[in-house]
Amino acid sequence: MPQGLESDSRKLLRRLRDTMAEDHAGQARLDLITHLIADSMASEVCSIYLFRDPETLELCATEGLRKEAVHQTRMKLGEGLVGRVARSGQIVNTANAPATRGFRYMPETGEEIYSSFLGVPIQRLGETLGVLVVQSKTAREFVGDEIYALEVVAMVLAEMTELGAFVGDNSDAMGARHQQPVMIRGTTGQEGAAIGHVWLHEPRVVVTNPIADDPEKETQRLHDAVDKLRLDVDRMLTPDVDGEQREVLEAYRMFAHSKGWMRRMEEDVARGLSAEAAVEKEQGAARARLSQSNDAYLRDRLNDLDDLSNRLLRLLTGQGRDTGAQMPDDPILIARNIGPAELLDYGRKLRGVVLEEGSVGSHAAIVARALAIPLVIHAGRITTEALNGDPIMVDGDQGIVHLRPGDTVAAAFRDKIAMQAAAQQRYASIRDEPALTRCGTVLSLHMNAGLMADLPSLESSGAEAVGLFRTELQFLVRNQMPRRQELSRLYARVLDAARGKRVVFRTLDIGSDKVLPYLKPNDEPNPAMGWRAIRVGLDKPGVLRMQLQALLRAANGRPLSVMFPFVAEHAEYRAARAEMDKALERERILGHPLPEKIEIGAMLETPSLAYASRAFFGEVGFLSVGGNDLKQFFFAADRENERVRRRYDTLNASFLNFLEGVVRVCGITGTPLSFCGEDAGRPVEAACLAAIGFRTLSMRPASIGPVKHMLRRVDLGDLRAVIDGARAVGAETVRPAVQAYLATLD
Ligand code: PEP
Ligand code: MG
Repeated sequence: MPQGLESDSRKLLRRLRDTMAEDHAGQARLDLITHLIADSMASEVCSIYLFRDPETLELCATEGLRKEAVHQTRMKLGEGLVGRVARSGQIVNTANAPATRGFRYMPETGEEIYSSFLGVPIQRLGETLGVLVVQSKTAREFVGDEIYALEVVAMVLAEMTELGAFVGDNSDAMGARHQQPVMIRGTTGQEGAAIGHVWLHEPRVVVTNPIADDPEKETQRLHDAVDKLRLDVDRMLTPDVDGEQREVLEAYRMFAHSKGWMRRMEEDVARGLSAEAAVEKEQGAARARLSQSNDAYLRDRLNDLDDLSNRLLRLLTGQGRDTGAQMPDDPILIARNIGPAELLDYGRKLRGVVLEEGSVGSHAAIVARALAIPLVIHAGRITTEALNGDPIMVDGDQGIVHLRPGDTVAAAFRDKIAMQAAAQQRYASIRDEPALTRCGTVLSLHMNAGLMADLPSLESSGAEAVGLFRTELQFLVRNQMPRRQELSRLYARVLDAARGKRVVFRTLDIGSDKVLPYLKPNDEPNPAMGWRAIRVGLDKPGVLRMQLQALLRAANGRPLSVMFPFVAEHAEYRAARAEMDKALERERILGHPLPEKIEIGAMLETPSLAYASRAFFGEVGFLSVGGNDLKQFFFAADRENERVRRRYDTLNASFLNFLEGVVRVCGITGTPLSFCGEDAGRPVEAACLAAIGFRTLSMRPASIGPVKHMLRRVDLGDLRAVIDGARAVGAETVRPAVQAYLATLD
């Protein structure tokens, strides 16, 4: 880098900092900055365009163009050269602006006499806030160092915007940022609606000193921080870390030791940026390069680099995660992603959760579901848009987030919540009534649970029993295998809290998406169809035996119900049952009390089990249809794959025919049958399941009211006739016919 230019860019930054230090209102500051840049870069024009709203840019300050055009000249995103810079996030550098693709003449600005044009995006953390432009009469392209200087100034401007440097007079030059309503469309992770205020899981690091005077001192700070970062990463990479976590840490290490990354940051510092600003500049540049990519691997690496840059920023600024901010009373947690244990730590104080990434089957989603907290996942850009304390509304049903909602949206959302509250009251009024249909059939409604904290819902929801207690959460949220005694204590507390109501404990359903951090994950091409659930339990029986023993001890003589997940054939059930018999025998020999009654069942989650021999149906104590898994295998459609998971309707005639077959066999063999997938908690689906013969449904506690309300209005004979009618005419799904029938009910 030529010495002269190096000091030029530093001089410009220093002048910029001095200007910022003076006590001016927002507009005056912007005016001074444009003057300063034009002067330093020896160009006649310097202008700052900022977003008025997400689609419109406005000329907010200029040196050289007509002053009357300020706050008057506007362009749409993509319109003109300025709009092009804003849309693409790429610079435009041309010697002949009028002849350049996309040029749009703005007569009010008087810019027609300027031939050269250099526009750079004003960006922070990949978010474009506006465009900084210099223009001159001489027809020439700007050279590398000039471009660099303008980019750096643009970055400092963005940084200062974040600090609120341009807010403060009636023009409110950059004040509109992070104040406007934003609607983000994501995906439902857990239904429900919530109103609250943003709580950032990882608050942004605030860089208060983007410009530095002493490059040598700054370079030293950068080196010290990077050395510390490398040490930290090496320390995290202990030999026992493996699998995905190891991959991520290896990527961290690669970045932390990257010479290119270090060199670019050193250059930034040499040109006048502080070490923090240099880290952010390179973070932004990497974002701009990688975020365009459709390659999931590259996008993951971008996240790694982001994490690493944030760590480095924390080291440099000394800002930890705890910024001293006060968590609001009604927090809605915003994070790019979050682990199950961290989410559980926040617990029920959260009103809602919004994740930029995440997946429906992730452990965090499982915890959110267990806590009944509305969750929206795949909410793009939420972590850059949201600021701590922003008002936010989460529509978990639609998978939509309204950040800083306007009055109309807020009012409509409040109405929705009020309607839900009214419905809840209606449900509360029938809480102690039976789920008695119009035709006089009584259904048993059970609840699904997975945490101790779920148990109070047994009383409040009016559920008759816990039809499914998922035991994996206790395994997922720990760093090591829980001990038998711990489990036994927990199960005993669950039984105590159920006060004699039946609790069906499902043995560990691990594998597939639910990988335990302390069990070596198997690299399987199709984990959902791989070594999971009872398959693991039978092949490596240690954990299953420990769990069965913990359950028997917890029961301590009380009745006990246990079911095995993902049983695909009779032999698997027999082998699992034999484990229970052995466990019982062991307890008997040890002189421990045995359950006064024991029921052992299986989950029907693979189509194969529906065709098992009659002997199996006669032998199994009860069957529970795990509709979530069953449906994915019936339609061969991954329940976690957004592209296909909603593709097939539960009310598809083939699926209903299949389920009806299961009901029929169980009727013949006298096998108690229930349905415990998510569909049991959807009123329309629940009514149809009842119409084809299911008499026990297990669902999230919050669904019991709506399902009971529906069941109490339907006549199962009529509904069955509607379903049969639709099937008779070859309907793919019976839903339209069913909905037409339901619409006639009062
Ligand atoms: C199911 O598959 O329907 C089920 C209840 O189990 P899980 O959702 O835990 O796999
Ligand atoms: Mg399942």
